Amino acid sequence: MYFTSSPFWLQWLYPTLTWHKNRKEKYVYLTFDDGPVPVVTPYVLNTLEKFDALATFFCIGENVCKYPNIFKDVLAKGHRVGNHTFNHLKGWNTPDQEFLENIEKCSEAVHSNLFRPPYGRISKVQIRKVKNMFPEMEIVMWDVLSGDFDRNISLEKCTRNVLKNVKNGSIIVFHDSEKAFARLEHTLPIVLKELQLQGYGFKML
Ligand SMILES: [Zn+2]
Repeated sequence: MYFTSSPFWLQWLYPTLTWHKNRKEKYVYLTFDDGPVPVVTPYVLNTLEKFDALATFFCIGENVCKYPNIFKDVLAKGHRVGNHTFNHLKGWNTPDQEFLENIEKCSEAVHSNLFRPPYGRISKVQIRKVKNMFPEMEIVMWDVLSGDFDRNISLEKCTRNVLKNVKNGSIIVFHDSEKAFARLEHTLPIVLKELQLQGYGFKML
């Protein structure tokens, strides 16, 4: 169960997290979680390049260590990177100390003041502890979820999840992962083309 559009009450419960950017400017913020990995991340980089779009990649530290050259490509193309823990830990199921250490371990490979908790799961106590340990860290959630990770939805549904929910300042979640690739491969070019036609620009966080 997940929301393709983050509900107002959830955003209200967690006001210190970033849910979207400026609603008055016609930009959207594409984000790609869980990479870098072969095939999928290069596909995303090529597709973004065709549309002159810059994006933000929330990387898993373990993948950065496994595929350093793909990670370098992400940076070389001018995109921004963020911390997504070293082992993709779910905050709710992880003791605070272990969670913090895993973020720190990721930060050795991914130099960034952006953090996105895997699965969007982070407790209020953990939010406070992350902010204490990394005072510059911005914790970034999203307001539009493509659902590309969900094998039970059609390609068209994945595309619709984005296009029907997007608005000025939206932060949109995709995944550069093998699991998501079928849906991502279909949806990403359509979304870029359609939003460009609607007059949106694409920005990094
Ligand atoms: Zn993730």
